[in-house]
Amino acid sequence: MTDEQQATIATLIHRLHRQYPMGVTTMGHCPQCENPSRGGDLCGRCLAAELADVSGQHQAAHCLHTAIKHTRDYTALLIEGEMP
Ligand SMILES: [Zn+2]
Repeated sequence: MTDEQQATIATLIHRLHRQYPMGVTTMGHCPQCENPSRGGDLCGRCLAAELADVSGQHQAAHCLHTAIKHTRDYTALLIEGEMP
């Protein structure tokens, strides 16, 4: 794997984290599938699919996406008393 591929994967992971913020955020629409997305970036599902394609690690990309979403959801449940 090249440094450029590693940088692309790291950026995709960062963008995936950004799709699951705590609290209120500015939402738009995913330019690829029209689902709600933070800041009009690709949505979590599309970013996870791109991460899978770029890395070739489909299960890892799916599991990371689920883990990021669950981290946000359960953190909100513990702090705010409800799931987002
Ligand atoms: Zn999308």
